[in-house]
Amino acid sequence: MSDSLLPTLPGDDVRQIMWRFSDRFDLQMAVQSARGVARGTAARLVADGMRNTHEWSDEKAKLLTAFDESGLTALYMDLDQGGFIDGPKVMAMSLVAFELSWVDAGAATGSLASNLALAPIQAKGTDKQRAFYMEKSLPPQPGEDRIPWRGAFALTEPLPFVGVDTGILNGKVRIIDWPEGGEPLLQVDKRGRFITNMDFANFVTAAVDSDDPRIKGSCMVILENTDPGTFDRGAPTLKLVHQLSSTRDPVFSQQVPASRIIGGYEVVDGVIIPKYNHSEVIASVFHRTRIPVGLMTAAKLLSAIEPVIRYQRSRFHGGESGEGSPRHDLGLQMNEDVTHRLIDVWATGEAAASVGFEASRQADIFDPIEAAKDSICEEQGLTGRRQFMALRKKEPEVIEYLNLLYGDEATRDAARFEELGNDTLVQFALMDARANVMNPAVKLWNTGYGATMMREAVSLMGGYGTTEDCPGFLPQKWMDAQLEATYEGPEAVQRRHLTLGMPSKIFRHEFSLWIQRLEGLADSQTAFAPATLAAAMKLWSWTIDYLQSHSDPSGKKLYHGKRQGVTFPLADSICWLLSARSLLEDGIELKTKGADNPVLANSIDGYASFYADLCHVQIARSAGEVSRICANLVFGFQDSMDDGEAAEFSALRDAVDRSLVGSELAKARAARSLTTIMIPEALDYPV
Ligand SMILES: Cc1cc2nc3c(=O)[nH]c(=O)nc-3n(C[C@H](O)[C@H](O)[C@H](O)COP(=O)(O)OP(=O)(O)OC[C@H]3O[C@@H](n4cnc5c(N)ncnc54)[C@H](O)[C@@H]3O)c2cc1C
Repeated sequence: MSDSLLPTLPGDDVRQIMWRFSDRFDLQMAVQSARGVARGTAARLVADGMRNTHEWSDEKAKLLTAFDESGLTALYMDLDQGGFIDGPKVMAMSLVAFELSWVDAGAATGSLASNLALAPIQAKGTDKQRAFYMEKSLPPQPGEDRIPWRGAFALTEPLPFVGVDTGILNGKVRIIDWPEGGEPLLQVDKRGRFITNMDFANFVTAAVDSDDPRIKGSCMVILENTDPGTFDRGAPTLKLVHQLSSTRDPVFSQQVPASRIIGGYEVVDGVIIPKYNHSEVIASVFHRTRIPVGLMTAAKLLSAIEPVIRYQRSRFHGGESGEGSPRHDLGLQMNEDVTHRLIDVWATGEAAASVGFEASRQADIFDPIEAAKDSICEEQGLTGRRQFMALRKKEPEVIEYLNLLYGDEATRDAARFEELGNDTLVQFALMDARANVMNPAVKLWNTGYGATMMREAVSLMGGYGTTEDCPGFLPQKWMDAQLEATYEGPEAVQRRHLTLGMPSKIFRHEFSLWIQRLEGLADSQTAFAPATLAAAMKLWSWTIDYLQSHSDPSGKKLYHGKRQGVTFPLADSICWLLSARSLLEDGIELKTKGADNPVLANSIDGYASFYADLCHVQIARSAGEVSRICANLVFGFQDSMDDGEAAEFSALRDAVDRSLVGSELAKARAARSLTTIMIPEALDYPV
């Protein structure tokens, strides 16, 4: 294996290939717009010390204007609503969140929060609600003189109410007037905690529960700042993170017409039945909005590479040893450990970005399929359990479709493949099974493990890493990562989702086909370590089968929703596999397509071999984690193990260990690249 001669840090050409948006000019434009805001307005605010207060200010409000003027506010809107991106927008939001967080994640949160407020309306609102609030939120067009509306999303409540557990709503709604044949008037009382955008929100989408026998269940309702009653923005949250966004604890007590119930309602026997309860609305929103949060932490890890290399290299400049001496030219990089640790940070960031963007692309494909499924189910009157059963019946066809999808294209039954490809319910069941694992995995692993690795990046900057003026704002990014791991559902929530998603028959079948694909790549793409990943995935599969079919000595089932000591570590372990797999696929894509790119033609070998090494490093790390977790789970809950089962497990684990041959050599090669790679003289944003 030759040295991985990485010429420069990867630029847009490399990223567009890896994250598959070379042919999406609209997305490339969104990236440029977000980059301009990040490295301009946002970076200046941080450099000017605006993060040192949690108070909202006129200075910080410049970000909102920058979002409007750069097109980022309109990003979330459809073409007919004044937006510029046709179709689903998760990939666009992820790219924008990535670019903004490269400099400051608070700026990204501010940009995403308005979308979060609009998301319930966009996903589940009536046509009228959608048209009205989208139009109000659109920035003024040329010749128009108006201030766009901003929104806030209010689910979380003061202690002891809604947090991780979204079922215990204290916010209430009741009917205060219902004129004969007219629209009921509602009284809404809601207190919020940690609500983003509250300093300037014109409207709030709030989750409330019925406090009236004439309203069934819970719902989400839209409140405006001019509605009668109290719209108190509340006290600012004394936050230590994401200070470029606005967060407060508001209090609402307002009267609004029932037409503000998101999605509308019907009246049955004198009772208002909201079309969607608050859980249904939240589920449809978070399904997508959590992915960009995962990309925020990924961006920070990758943004750390350049400032750390620069710091390491220049550490002894000006000392007695002159230019040309290793001490002068390599600086801290004379020490093996600092480059090896930086490779770990880099590999984590790459894997996080790869899995996050893969989930984003999948979400965009899923969006129209989900809408088509909803129409079919509505037409056929399939709701609740009947819908669940109808989808369940499709399972054999999904499995058949997957076998054709991963089978030999030349010999597969093309007509049947097309037929199943056009079957909405088959496609929905497949995409749903994928999303139920991929999306929580992105939020959980990228932010949680990402925060741990941000600390590693900070540690490489020495004392600088604990100061406000650390290049690349690394300590701020480390602290911010903890919020990304917390809001929009902390890690426990994602682990609970994974607990439900991982055993899916459809997901498990596709997982087995991924293993086959990786084994098939073992000879042609050896440098990317597909065999190691396949071995770790086999061990994981054996482990979940074991946990699902065995009990502990007291007879209690091992794999059970209430048994978080089993399911949560297993949830963590699958994230390692998914992120490593996404990186491997992106690395191979770069190697394959990069040669055709005129800009990369001369340097693709260097990039391809470096990414292969990086991938090898990440897969080896992931395999180690998975091995450790699986062994703990399989052996740790038993008094003694059946010899046959213990031997089966050990053989699989041994295969993982043996497949690690060469992984540290790959790390050493990649680390050497860090000592030769060319980096710019200075960061392209202020410090
Ligand atoms: C800066 C900021 C901005 C925010 N913006 C918004 C916003 O715009 N809108 C909004 O509605 N909310 C917002 N939030 C709230 C955020 O989403 C919540 O803080 C988050 O969902 C966690 O709720 P909690 O803080 O009440 O934690 P808790 O519910 O008290 O949970 C604390 C911890 O307990 C553990 N835990 C809890 N339940 C379980 C369980 N069932 N199983 C295992 N472990 C468990 C977990 O470790 C968890 O992290 C924001 C928060 C912050 C800090």
